[in-house]
Amino acid sequence: MPHGKKTQMVTAGRDPKWTQGVVNPPVQRASTILFDTVADKKKATINRANKTLFYGRRGTNTHFAFQQAMTEIEGGAGCALFPSGAAAIANSILAFVETGDHILMVDTCYEPTRDFCNVIMKKMGVETTYYDPMIGEGIRSLIQPNTKVLFTESPGSITMEVQDIPKLSNIAHEHDIIVMLDNTWGAGVNFSPFDYGVDISIQAATKYIGGHSDIMLGTATSTAEHWDQLREQCYLMGQCVSPDDVYMALRGIRTLGIRLKQHDENGLKIANWLAKRPEVDHVRHPSLASCPGHEFFKRDFSGGNGLFSFVLKHSHPKATTALLDGMTHFGMGYSWGGFESLILATEPSSFNSLRTIANPQFSGTLIRLHIGLEDVEDLIQDLETGFERYNAAIKNG
Ligand SMILES: *Cc1c(COP(=O)(O)O)cnc(C)c1O
Repeated sequence: MPHGKKTQMVTAGRDPKWTQGVVNPPVQRASTILFDTVADKKKATINRANKTLFYGRRGTNTHFAFQQAMTEIEGGAGCALFPSGAAAIANSILAFVETGDHILMVDTCYEPTRDFCNVIMKKMGVETTYYDPMIGEGIRSLIQPNTKVLFTESPGSITMEVQDIPKLSNIAHEHDIIVMLDNTWGAGVNFSPFDYGVDISIQAATKYIGGHSDIMLGTATSTAEHWDQLREQCYLMGQCVSPDDVYMALRGIRTLGIRLKQHDENGLKIANWLAKRPEVDHVRHPSLASCPGHEFFKRDFSGGNGLFSFVLKHSHPKATTALLDGMTHFGMGYSWGGFESLILATEPSSFNSLRTIANPQFSGTLIRLHIGLEDVEDLIQDLETGFERYNAAIKNG
């Protein structure tokens, strides 16, 4: 019988082969691995698919434990590891395209994903068409005979649009197109990619899996059909990850469920509080009806987390700066998924370069929050005094 997600998060990857009976696998550092006999060496060399010790770059028991944990939790036939989420995205795409191919890329993708397409894919002679995250059936008209990859990210970066992944996957598969998902927000726990037709699920484990803002790590889990090709790409590109970072990520998984639940609870309280603020036009939190694709979130996700955005009624950069500069509990910085709260602002004009076909045309500033594990009352107090500074700055011109 398959276990529940919470049980999986506690037990996944804890094979005595990797742990040697300790609760957590030892951090195994290696470049050279010694073989007892010529026959042993030959056995390890021939089968690249097996999780056997061969050479450091191909992984150690620490890596194998984490890879197994990811495939138990997220699904799929295997998990390739990369030194960052960005490397996981780039290599997953590279594994399945060649010169002359075409990619359908969601317009609300993470900015470096867009840059990768516009620079590296372009240089390789691979064409990218950006599509509206809410396109649904309309994706049919963008499919070309040379379309190889349909790339999705749900919810979308910054603007949080939730995509109809099963519909897009079904259409893509009619044309033998590989469906990839940037599943960082779902964290492999709140959205089960392989149940909805995704072929390759990518995560920045840097975010919630690590959960403590102290590692960089990328993962790509794949169906059996595409696993060999993905694994070979990772290997041939020389991608490898430190066992210390992998150990931290595996440790992160053990508390992932309860952290996500608390981030979600805290985030929802603040989202609902923001929705009533006079300065706020609307809140983009997948759990609220004001978020595009909310119906798909309700249908396909089993929970949320602490990352969402809200849009102010006006764009007033000076007032926004007054708000952001004086925060006590919210830090200003990139990334998210750690235990601490973060705040970032995006002025409407920035969307001219971040979006090419689904520009949200906000008239007000967008503010993205990552709600951490602090007391919600402290965070609300922080935002409240932030709005006081914001309103005072507007009054003073
Ligand atoms: C952060 C992020 C990435 C990139 O991960 P890194 O580990 O920072 O390279 C990719 N996708 C999404 C949605 C992210 O938020």
